[in-house]
Amino acid sequence: MKFQFNRLDVREEDIFAELHHFLLRKNNRYMTNDEIVEKTGVSGDLLAKWAKNGKFKSSIFPNIGAPCERCGTITQTRLCLNCSETITGTLAKEERDREWFKKINQKQRSTYHYR
Ligand SMILES: [Zn+2]
Repeated sequence: MKFQFNRLDVREEDIFAELHHFLLRKNNRYMTNDEIVEKTGVSGDLLAKWAKNGKFKSSIFPNIGAPCERCGTITQTRLCLNCSETITGTLAKEERDREWFKKINQKQRSTYHYR
């Protein structure tokens, strides 16, 4: 079934109410964003916006998410697993570089002092 929201005066809350009702039926709550878009015709952007605003409790709707803030992959967290791993790795490398840089600087300073 596709939702019919062709009227211009239809409010977002009404769409959400109807969608929420639909999702609470049987196994609909396990649907992913893509499946919901395909089945109901609700726009993916709207879905992502609601997900971001916490309108879908992840304990009830485990597969609905919002785009990752870095790459846009649908995820239940702010960053997808891939991106959080990449960022964690980058930060760890930066930390090592900073330590290395500090050591080099200290060495230069002490060389200077003992000259
Ligand atoms: Zn990502």
